[in-house]
Parts: sequence; C-alpha cells; structure tokens
Amino acid sequence: MSDEVKPSEQFNDPAGLVEKFSSLGRLGTSAGGRAIYGGRIAGHGERVLFIGGVHGNETEGVAATAGFFDEFVASGKARKSATDLFFIPVMNPDGLANFSRHNGHGVDLNRNMPTKDWQQNSPGEKYYSGPTAGSESETAILMQVLHEFDPQFIVSLHSWKPMFNVNGPARTYAERMQSALNYVITEDIGYPTPGSLGTYAGWERGIPTITFEIERGLPLGQVYQTVRGALLAVV
Ligand SMILES: [Zn+2]
Repeated sequence: MSDEVKPSEQFNDPAGLVEKFSSLGRLGTSAGGRAIYGGRIAGHGERVLFIGGVHGNETEGVAATAGFFDEFVASGKARKSATDLFFIPVMNPDGLANFSRHNGHGVDLNRNMPTKDWQQNSPGEKYYSGPTAGSESETAILMQVLHEFDPQFIVSLHSWKPMFNVNGPARTYAERMQSALNYVITEDIGYPTPGSLGTYAGWERGIPTITFEIERGLPLGQVYQTVRGALLAVV
C-alpha cells in the first residue's frame, strides 16, 4: 500500500474566509499580525473545545470548520447544542494565508506547546518548535482558552491519512465519531509529537483529545458533508 498522501487544495481567498468568522470575537493576533477569531457559541452541557486550522496547509480542516460555521453558528442552531462549545475555526491564519504548515515565524504550532517533552530544534525544519516552549502568540491564546474555558473534550481538525488520533482518555469519543465516519482509531500515529496539543492536553493533563485527521486531498467542496456526522456526534 502506498504511503503517499495527495496534496491539499488551496482556498482562493483565505483572508476573506477568515473574516467570515469575525462575529465569533477576536481572541488575539498571530505572529504575522492577523486576527485570530473564536469564542463560546453554545450554552449548556459538556465543555467542548473545537479547533481548526492549526496547520495552514491542511485546508481540509478549515473547510470543515467553515461548513460547521455556516450550518450551526451563523444559523443560530448551535445555541440549541447539547454542549457548551468554544470554537476556534482558524488557529493559524498566517499559515492559511501562506498555505504553510507554519505560523508567520516559521513555527509549527503543534510542536510549540510547553509539554514536558518539548524539544528544541532549528528554524527552517518542518517541525520547528520555536525558540522556546510556548513562545508563539497563537500558543498563548490556546493556553489561555484551555485555562479559562477548562474543556472536558477537545477536537482539533487536521488532514493526513484518515484517522481519529486519540490522545488521553478519548477512545469513547472516537468511537462515537467512527460510527458516523469509518476512519481508523489510533493512539499512535507512528512518531512522537513533543509540543503538540494532544500531548499537552491529552496525555499530560488527561483531557480527552482527538486529532481528527481528515483525508488529505479530499476536494474542499466535499469535506464538510464527509465529516459532518462525525463532528455532530461529539459537538
Ligand atoms: Zn496537522
């Protein structure tokens, strides 16, 4: 079986796409000076943190948050949700604008969280973890949301080989998602991820966390219908 993964499709107007989320409120500013939008959108129940676009070149994750925004947030349906939802649709607007994994400082935000196993490496590397653990403004924003919102479950949308990557005690959530979308559930993606949200929240703090790897290369216009059931199963 080939290990090759197709490239993601690019958005025509990433900056315009990000602005569509401005009604959520502004959490802060990216390394490159772009607004990061997000906020609490639903009332009562389990506290769920829903994040997209940590890696800006994994556009499938943002196609999914955009579809979710249109169907649930803009329409007002989310207010009837059975969860208390905090939504950050584009965590890395610099990366989305530049079709890059990294933020405006060249940092892989999913290696910048201050985990116990955070590792120093070099600028220019694919997994560049930043000058220090937690150095990036995007990371500071995420840390503040984790601290203040205190989520009971986290789902972060990426794209790669299709899978529900379970971090911490999240298997039952993954099974709910899998009943709507037949992706494999795995606790081991095959390589260590120091500085990742899954390690920080899932493994080190015991917050059930799923890194939802949407099939990379799926046409963006098909993404939301593909993942919709899996998302609705947990948010
Ligand atoms: Zn990713």
